[in-house]
Order: sequence, then structure tokens, then C-alpha cells
Amino acid sequence: MTNDVLIIGGGVGGTIVANLVAKEAGDRARVTLVDSTGMHVYQPGFLYVAVGQEKPENLSREESRLLRSEVKLVVDQATLVRTDDHKVVLKSGKTLRYDELVLATGSRIVPEEVPGAAGAHNFYSMEGATRLHRALEQFTGGTIVIGVAGIPYKCPPAPVEFVFLLDDYLRARRLREKSQIKLLSPLNRAFTIEATSKLVQPILAERGIELTGFFNVETVDPINKTVTSLEGETVGYDLLVLVPPHRGAKLIEDSKLGDARGWIPVDKNTLKHTEHPDIWALGDATNIPISKSGSVAHYEASVAADEIVAALKGEAPPAHVYDGKVMCFLETGQGQATTIRFDYDHPPVSPNPSHLWHWAKALFNKTYWHTVPQGRLP
Ligand SMILES: Cc1cc2nc3c(=O)[nH]c(=O)nc-3n(C[C@H](O)[C@H](O)[C@H](O)COP(=O)(O)OP(=O)(O)OC[C@H]3O[C@@H](n4cnc5c(N)ncnc54)[C@H](O)[C@@H]3O)c2cc1C
Repeated sequence: MTNDVLIIGGGVGGTIVANLVAKEAGDRARVTLVDSTGMHVYQPGFLYVAVGQEKPENLSREESRLLRSEVKLVVDQATLVRTDDHKVVLKSGKTLRYDELVLATGSRIVPEEVPGAAGAHNFYSMEGATRLHRALEQFTGGTIVIGVAGIPYKCPPAPVEFVFLLDDYLRARRLREKSQIKLLSPLNRAFTIEATSKLVQPILAERGIELTGFFNVETVDPINKTVTSLEGETVGYDLLVLVPPHRGAKLIEDSKLGDARGWIPVDKNTLKHTEHPDIWALGDATNIPISKSGSVAHYEASVAADEIVAALKGEAPPAHVYDGKVMCFLETGQGQATTIRFDYDHPPVSPNPSHLWHWAKALFNKTYWHTVPQGRLP
């Protein structure tokens, strides 16, 4: 018997699952991947686009070039999952049936949820990063404020990396002495991970980057150029960069497969939907309280693929489950970086920043296209 394995989302997680299932299941599966754009985007590169170190055209490739030949790619938007008859409805009006369904639809940014923030900059989309770069090129000095308008958001260390890269950028343009960089964090530290925050906070201070804790961005006044927190504090800016609020995909909300913000409830080890045994979800799309990062999607994808292949072969579920593994790089500026590693049983550890980790990240960024989508684990 040949099953229909349907994957929605051709980002990090969906692409790896599609390739691994197609490789391992052979004739037991017809693998179809649906993606709304047909383009695979390497989002960590947005940070470098914002500070002029990367070109947008280097960050996207046609999804069809990253998939094994056995995988059928459908470029269309999934609009509804019908769990009663195992079908997914597409924007074009077509429907696709599934025996096993993988939801790898990532997250979406919703800046419109913050009153007054329509004109604020961000580095959470290609358009946002490109527009921010243009604004930085025109910047001649003043106060740049970086705030966070909601947790969870993709890549928890990204705002910290951005302020370090921004510090380098302003120094290179001889604008640093005429500028202030203010990082507003919703927590009592630089970002969610305490051990790494402790490591980077003295470096922020050394570089003259001001850190304000317990500042949950609530509203922006674009006329008077101020940002106000839920806690009642107001800060003025000349250029505002916000991490916008995030939600799960609209498909998940419309199909009632997620919580109030569209995050999909899954078993944190098997990645199976808590209510539908033939649906798996992974990556940013899930409600697992762990970093929304490409590395998580990468590690989870091999688990979901093994689960599906075992089900197709009628074998017992694999012993190999997702153990909460996360591995991220964090740029600390001046050509250095550190890493963050942890899992469900081991707390985060980060080595002292060094040039070595910066080069490791640069190498990963370049080799991504030839390793990650194919499911090769680093
Ligand atoms: C600035 C920035 C820096 C980052 N830095 C890092 C880093 O250093 N390290 C790291 O590990 N991670 C980093 N990340 C996070 C990483 O990019 C994401 O966590 C990762 O891409 C999530 O993978 P995913 O497969 O879950 O979702 P995505 O890669 O976002 O893919 C989701 C896919 O689903 C498709 N889709 C959505 N809805 C539908 C629908 N209804 N129908 C069809 N297709 C649909 C989308 O088109 C997209 O292709 C960073 C992110 C940003 C923005």
C-alpha cells in the first residue's frame, strides 16, 4: 500500500521531513509538499542584510532545487485542514488528501497588533531588513531603539545580535559617537536565556549599548517618536526597530488546530498533534516552550520523519525522540560570536565569545544550502 504523506510548508522543517521521508520510505509513500511561495528563504541572513553585510538575492532559492526528485512540490497556499475527511483545501480550490500530515507552517509576524507601530523597522522579513538597511544608510546620528513587542519570537538572541552588529556598523561609518543604541528587553536581562545573558551583558556595557529591562513594548507614538511599555515607561527614539509580535500560521487558526495564538499543541518528544494521531507539527509552528529556531526545526524534522517512516513500514515507533536539543550561534560583534546549546535535561551553556565561533557561523550560513535542507545533521 502507498500512503499519501502531505507536508505543508517548505521552510527548514518541512523541506527536511519531505526529503527524509522520500529517501527512507521508498514505494510506501507518495510525498507531496505544499508551499505558498515556492521559494526557500534563509531567514538568519536578514540580520546581515539589515547592516549591509549580505545581499537579499543570496538568501533565497527555488524550493524545487532543494527537494529530492521523488517529492512533488505544489506551489499554492493551504487554506483549511479538514481532519474529518483527511483533506487539505488549497487557495486555488484544489484539495489534497493525506494519510499522514506534517504541519511545518512556521510563524508569521503581526506588527499591526502594536498601536502606532506601522512605520517601525524590523529585521523579521526580507522587506523589513531591506527597508531597515536603507534607513541606516540615511542615518546620520541620534538614538536607535530596539524593542520587543511580544514573546515568543523567532531566534531569541536575534535582537542582541542585531545591537552588536549595529554597533560595528555605526563605528565603521564613524557615527558611533553621535549615536545611542538602546535595547529594551521584556525580561530582567538581555533575552530569555539567563546564562548567555550574563555572558553578553558586560559586553553590551563595554560597547556603550544601554540595556533597559522589564520593557514590554505596548504602543508607539510615531509623531512624538516615543515608545511606551506595558509597565508604563516611555523612551524617545530617532529610529525605531521592533521585534514584532508573532503568531502561528492563519491556516492553523482557521482550521482550529492550534491555541489562541495559532501555536500547534504537540507531544514535546514525538511531535504528534495532541488530538490527531496522523498529524505531526514541528519548528516554529508548535507550542513547545523552546526557542523558535532553525536548529530546533532541523533536529525535530528527523524525529518526525522517523516516526512517519516507522508508521508506513508498520514498525514500532522509533526509540529516537526529540530531546529538546537547541544549538544556536550568537554574534557578539567585532568579528566574534558565542554559541548556545541545551536540551530538555541540560541547561544552556555558552563559551566565551571568540573569532572561531564567528567563522563557524559564517561557514554555516554559506554551506546551509548543501547540508540542512537535505537533512544532513551537523
Ligand atoms: C532575523 C532572524 C534570525 C534568525 N537567526 C537564526 C539563527 O541564527 N539560528 C537558528 O537556528 N534560527 C534562526 N532564525 C529562526 C529560523 O529562521 C526559524 O526558526 C526557522 O526558519 C523555522 O523553520 P520552520 O520550518 O518552522 O518555518 P519556516 O522556515 O518559517 O517555513 C515555513 C514555511 O511555511 C510556508 N507556509 C506558511 N503557511 C503556509 C500555508 N498556509 N500554505 C503553504 N505554505 C505555507 C511558508 O511560505 C514557509 O516557506 C532566525 C530568524 C530570523 C527572522
